[in-house]
Amino acid sequence: MGNATKFLKEEYDELVEKDFDWKIRVLNSPSAPKSVVEGKNVVMLCSNNYLNLSNHPKLKEAAVKATKKYGVGSGSVRPIAGTMDIHMELEEKIAKFKKTEASLFYQSGFVTNSGLIPQLVGEGDVIISDELNHGSIIDGVRLTKADRMVYKHRDMESLEQALKETENKYRRTLVVTDGVFSMDGDIAPMDEIVKLAGEYNAISYVDDAHGDGVLGEKGRGISSHFNIEGKVDVEMGTFSKAFGVVGGYAAGSSDLRNFALNKSRTWLLSGSHPPGVVAACIASLDVLETEPQWVEKLWENTKYFKKELQSLGFDTGISETPITPVIVGPSSTAKTLSSRLYEEGVFALPIVFPMVARDKARIRTMMNAGLTKNDLDFALNKFEKVGKELKII
Ligand SMILES: *Cc1c(COP(=O)(O)O)cnc(C)c1O
Repeated sequence: MGNATKFLKEEYDELVEKDFDWKIRVLNSPSAPKSVVEGKNVVMLCSNNYLNLSNHPKLKEAAVKATKKYGVGSGSVRPIAGTMDIHMELEEKIAKFKKTEASLFYQSGFVTNSGLIPQLVGEGDVIISDELNHGSIIDGVRLTKADRMVYKHRDMESLEQALKETENKYRRTLVVTDGVFSMDGDIAPMDEIVKLAGEYNAISYVDDAHGDGVLGEKGRGISSHFNIEGKVDVEMGTFSKAFGVVGGYAAGSSDLRNFALNKSRTWLLSGSHPPGVVAACIASLDVLETEPQWVEKLWENTKYFKKELQSLGFDTGISETPITPVIVGPSSTAKTLSSRLYEEGVFALPIVFPMVARDKARIRTMMNAGLTKNDLDFALNKFEKVGKELKII
């Protein structure tokens, strides 16, 4: 290997030295409330599979049936020959679920943000973004020539100030935010954001990746939670979290759909989803409609687990959702807590600097509707045991 690629090893070694490198854990089972990770049985507390739909018999059956009928691949990108009737059916169902006029299904949530944001705004425009927005929004923003402003996390005065400063200076203004923030589990004040965006003639854009299947009536997401369905200009989300499959979408007006499908390069130039995936996504929406018990169970579990963690003396931050951080301070404590929990049969990963502030390292737990009270008590017991051992509580 020549000198030109020496940096590969150098930069990797540097990450290892700082302990910033990813040590990938391998599952030997389905991603389920109780999984096998590296040969060990664990209570799973860090998957995004909130409703355990990735193991739902109706989704699995739909995927198998569609694969038998349509094959394993779609054969093309969507605009050429990669749109099957089930792709269209899914988009209609997404729009119904989100109570919008239309929707467009993308390969993932990441490429929805990175492919749509740079088409909505460009030179002569401005993006106003919450400081804690997801990396896929940040990459979408970086792909535009639009000016950028960042407002303080969930701070409506800071947002309004940015709107005032940019008023009448730009062609278009885009206000973009995560709906549920994935590090702390707090919720954006979407009702106020939509109101402010309206007052200043700005486009409102929400990333509902952690809100779909979690918030609102039957898990319809953040706009249902705030009773503002159809009022956010662009709602995007993912099928890789509570829906248990994979894929992204943008929902809004028919104008938005027509615009996005003609302009969004990530949508136009990348192969469309295999039939099995599409059919499983359709089935996930059907299950949410007909089996509301999963969303209810998710919240019941969440409330119990959060309350018990708090009464053990853990700091769970400002979470309002099934994402419950256990904030412990130094990175090393978070890492030891995570590996000790794993030894005890509880799988929850540490989140450390640079993903969160240096003194706010944590274990992030994600609740699952498929966990029983026994499973939760088992996990809580281990949190108590290891928490005391490490003098966190
Ligand atoms: C996970 C996530 C995404 C990416 O979604 P994928 O479909 O997995 O690519 C985008 N935004 C947020 C806030 C997320 O948490």
